[in-house]
Amino acid sequence: MILKTNNALTAMFLLLITVLPGCSRTESPRDDGKSTDPSNQTEESTVADHADADRSTGGRIPVIATYSILGDWVGRIGGEHVRLTTLVGPGGDAHTYEPTPQDSAAVADAKVLFENGLGFEGWLDRLYRASDSRATRVTVTEGIQGRMLYDSHGHSETDPHVWHDPQFAIEMVQSIAAALIKADPAHADDYQKNADAYVSELQELNTWIQGQITSLPESRRKLVTTHDTFGYFAERFGFQVSSVMGTVSSEVADPSAAQIAAIIETIRREEVPAIFAENILNPQLTEQVAREAGVRIVPTLFTDALGEKGSDGESYVQMMRSNVTKIVESLK
Ligand code: ZN
Repeated sequence: MILKTNNALTAMFLLLITVLPGCSRTESPRDDGKSTDPSNQTEESTVADHADADRSTGGRIPVIATYSILGDWVGRIGGEHVRLTTLVGPGGDAHTYEPTPQDSAAVADAKVLFENGLGFEGWLDRLYRASDSRATRVTVTEGIQGRMLYDSHGHSETDPHVWHDPQFAIEMVQSIAAALIKADPAHADDYQKNADAYVSELQELNTWIQGQITSLPESRRKLVTTHDTFGYFAERFGFQVSSVMGTVSSEVADPSAAQIAAIIETIRREEVPAIFAENILNPQLTEQVAREAGVRIVPTLFTDALGEKGSDGESYVQMMRSNVTKIVESLK
């Protein structure tokens, strides 16, 4: 048995798992918010099997997706040919995520690592280096011009929330397919077929959203959320957006009293009928702002992560349909 002990974390994890024979790395049900592609769940694998990468993966290529939405896309395109590990699972906040020893082990073993980029996964460079990974990193937003946001002090940051625009989702799905074809040319036809079918679904989704939004008068297209996650959605579908925290990252947890007063004033001035909670964030602050502004707080939107299995946001397409339905119903 050849064990790759690339760093202390991996070594520690392998030690831990060695004393728990029969424990599988990615397939066992987890309580830490991780998810594994359901199509991979039938196959058990142990650390011992990893001595032979081909045997342990049944010929599947080990791939990583940094967060759940990306994981959904990679699973759709990779299908039975990939063994997928998603680092930040449903409901998880990738902006503030803290990688685990299991993540380090998975990244060390991966052949391809898919990431959003645009500053979304600030913890990833360190994880990649620490795990001594040789995985090919694929930034799925490469080639997409990220929008910039400027705060009142003149600081600018790139907005990473590209997935809320289905047209950009199509570009990212095509990048995923190209990367898988390059990494595993033997299954190129399947990857291309999966990508073509999924792109049709995304085009359908885009048309459906446009139809739904048309029913909402322009003066009502005002989205207030906890953090600035809907910028690309707003640009594509003609919304005004603002957020309680006023940042594209959820990292700054405590906006000042002045910031909160300013957002409440905006909500009143713009006659925003409702504000939205987000599945990745504690709704407390948003509830407070809604109360003080005298507006409704409405059903939670899936913003930076999918919903749990069985929820109405368990896939990207479902999440988008659910969000748009809630937005249109709440703002009408
Ligand atoms: Zn975000």
